[in-house]
Amino acid sequence: MKNIKDYDLEELKKELSSIGEKPFRAEQIFKWLYEAKVKEFDEMTNLSVELRNKLKENYTMCNFNILKKQESSDGTKKYLFDVLDGNAIETVLMQYHHGKTICVSSQIGCKMGCKFCASTGIKFIRNLTSGEIVEQVLAVEQDIGDRISNIVFMGIGEPLDNYNNVINAIRIINNPKGLNIGARHISVSTSGIVPKIYDLANENIQCTLSISLHATNNEKRSSMMPVNDAYPIEELLQACKDYIKTTNRRISFEYALAKDNNDNLDDAKQLVKLLKGMLCHVNLIPINKIENGAYTKSTNENIIKFRDYLNEHGIVATIRRELGSDIDAACGQLRRKNLKE
Ligand code: SAH
Repeated sequence: MKNIKDYDLEELKKELSSIGEKPFRAEQIFKWLYEAKVKEFDEMTNLSVELRNKLKENYTMCNFNILKKQESSDGTKKYLFDVLDGNAIETVLMQYHHGKTICVSSQIGCKMGCKFCASTGIKFIRNLTSGEIVEQVLAVEQDIGDRISNIVFMGIGEPLDNYNNVINAIRIINNPKGLNIGARHISVSTSGIVPKIYDLANENIQCTLSISLHATNNEKRSSMMPVNDAYPIEELLQACKDYIKTTNRRISFEYALAKDNNDNLDDAKQLVKLLKGMLCHVNLIPINKIENGAYTKSTNENIIKFRDYLNEHGIVATIRRELGSDIDAACGQLRRKNLKE
């Protein structure tokens, strides 16, 4: 059966026309789904019983069940959701003073094989549908009884490898008649699938693009991220420059600092050279060691030196606060190992 949450508003209008219903019903249904956040078609009380029955016969609502929930001492929550086909996905809620951010998964597993990431070595199962991405937001909002203010596509998966579903989910999340979360409060993070960066630039969505850079030369980057063989640094940065030109949006570069690998001042110097003059921001992440992983976290001293060097040389850089590390919910720690416990 089709999932009613897979449709953005325009598509839902077409879908309803195809089953002989008036398109304005789509707006009513959207309100019920994303404003009232109902869980059953029967709660849509301004629709006739006939229409509700027709909807029930043709569509599911994909309400996730929480299989497991863990809470960190810093308030971060990690959810394991049952996606109703025997698989499970992880979503993380982080509470900052400026609001609540959720880190959503875009795929079940990941194909990218980044050496430092906990998703690596785990079989790729499938893309999530748009509805399953949107449902992560709805299910967390329902659990906490509050609204989410920011969404980052930094959970499991490579969002640009599931391009159409991710874009469609963003449209539903962003639509004022949908979840109504501003595009500027949505970040898409990519390991660097260059052609899709060009596509994203032309979508006319004001979301933030984050690039997982992590190294300043191709040899090192390829050793950390196999995707670099297909799309080396020069091509990636050219795509970023073109993205900025087209969208006028600042890009965020993610740089996970690993001891004796990419964290000395020479790397910082190279990074300044690469990014000089670009409308960008660098997010430094103390790398999280994964089980049997080759990389370990840089010392605090090195991380601060690295940041200061960037800032002193005209590149705005901040160190990302680590949240949820005691529940394996910090950057790159989400892993399928937990999924079927
Ligand atoms: N595939 C996308 C999004 C998922 S990863 C991407 O590559 O961007 C989300 C972020 O966490 C990325 O910046 C990724 O590089 C980072 N990350 C992955 N493993 C990590 C680890 N062990 N420590 C710190 N950051 C990590």
